[in-house]
Amino acid sequence: MLTIKGLVISERDSGETGKAVTILTAELGCISVYVRGGRKSKKSVSSTQLFCYAEFSLEEKRDAKNVTHYYYNSSEPIRMFYEIRLDAKKLALACYFSDLLRYACESAENAEEILRLTLNTLHFLDKGERDVELLRAIFELRLACETGYRPDLIGCHICYKAEDELMYLNMRTGQLTCSACAETGEGITSVQTENPDDDRFTAELDATMLYTVRFIALVEFDRLFSFRLSERYLVRLNTFCENYIRYQFGKRFDTLRFYKLL
Ligand SMILES: [Zn+2]
Repeated sequence: MLTIKGLVISERDSGETGKAVTILTAELGCISVYVRGGRKSKKSVSSTQLFCYAEFSLEEKRDAKNVTHYYYNSSEPIRMFYEIRLDAKKLALACYFSDLLRYACESAENAEEILRLTLNTLHFLDKGERDVELLRAIFELRLACETGYRPDLIGCHICYKAEDELMYLNMRTGQLTCSACAETGEGITSVQTENPDDDRFTAELDATMLYTVRFIALVEFDRLFSFRLSERYLVRLNTFCENYIRYQFGKRFDTLRFYKLL
């Protein structure tokens, strides 16, 4: 028997009456758990529904190939995030987060930080204490960072200059180039010769944008949700983070498209 805390990030029907849920845990990353009779049993319903954080008691079984399968035994809910389920836009955003998690969080590497990021983001989404678009930007960029796609934000990758009025971030390589190096053509153009389409991957960051992107990517966790942005910069930040995810993960998500329709 295994006792483990985790957040349900997806559920799907399995067999006649059962269901399978994906649970994000700090210790094992994402695991798939089979819930016998899970579509009917009242006992298991509440804490095996989407976005419930609970302590689960699971049976572990190894098959002939030595792959571990998990079976639900019982659970004790810790946090239900009720308000998210009552609001179509919040729910759509949370479903997009869950898509990103299932895509990016295959191994247990850094899962503790990823779970912490997710629970904190859902907390603010649930309470309505932060702009939903700000939460989206923070989650997208920080998740990319925690799953191994942190851009190299220390300074220009050619001359090491830390700041400039304008800096350019290559969305594909995650490298920064300062204005002077960009003008000499060393930075951006050298990448362009590799692939003529690469200028599409370059984001222009002014000082405020660079500060904000650095803050989200690098600040200690306790302060991550503690900043405000003007409406104008929030729009720019959202465009940046959305594109960064698209280029780094190499994928567009239907759940994001749906969220943006609402
Ligand atoms: Zn430079």
